[in-house]
Amino acid sequence: MSKLVMPATANDAAANLAAVRARMETAALAAGRAPSDVTLVAVSKGHDVSIIRAVLEAGHRVFGENRVQEAEAKWPPLKTEYGDICLHLIGPLQTNKAADALRLFDVIESVDRVRLAARLRWELDKRPELAARTVRYFVQVNTGEEPQKAGIAPGEADSLIEALAADYRLAAEGLMCIPPADEEPALHFALLGKIAERNGLASLSMGMSDDFEVAVTFGATHVRVGTAIFGTRQVAGSRINDLP
Ligand SMILES: *Cc1c(COP(=O)(O)O)cnc(C)c1O
Repeated sequence: MSKLVMPATANDAAANLAAVRARMETAALAAGRAPSDVTLVAVSKGHDVSIIRAVLEAGHRVFGENRVQEAEAKWPPLKTEYGDICLHLIGPLQTNKAADALRLFDVIESVDRVRLAARLRWELDKRPELAARTVRYFVQVNTGEEPQKAGIAPGEADSLIEALAADYRLAAEGLMCIPPADEEPALHFALLGKIAERNGLASLSMGMSDDFEVAVTFGATHVRVGTAIFGTRQVAGSRINDLP
């Protein structure tokens, strides 16, 4: 597979989207899974609205952004224009941005600590405008236990998942991970699958441009693909989910 070294044009992005979908389908079928069981989250961080629009026009509706502020600048008009968008927050969430995240995002994939859960609950209870929001939650697990990366340690995941449901009424739908760049991703995908299984969680968000097919083989229900669709990112917001 050749690597894209340029930001994609609108035409490229639509063609890349179709190619990624086809590769996902092949991987799913090879693993004996239904292609419809895997959702493609198109990661549009670092790209501007003109190219995002090309992917929307191609019919895609599920997108991921890693920064609340960047997403706030890009998505509210698009959400109004294309009513059925599902926006995932895939980057670390600071507690002081919790209310903003709840307003804009439909899925928060980066819940990784009790303090954040408490703040999300508090904002939801306090702000009447959030009462109608039905946000979904994933717990981010730092499967490689990398100090610079967000996510709960694997050994503490069970208790956080339990607390989310029992203490904060924010039952997690699934788990998310970002394997260390220099390790075999399959080991991390397998670990994430085990933690989800023993906690009875149905969804696994794992796999990016370089490894989404492996992730599908290991049971991903959501893959987060940026570069393979949009090309190389040229603006801030391009780091992979390291802590701010
Ligand atoms: C940027 C990012 C992605 C997409 O990475 P690509 O390699 O461009 O596909 C996926 N997940 C997270 C958490 C990210 O920050």
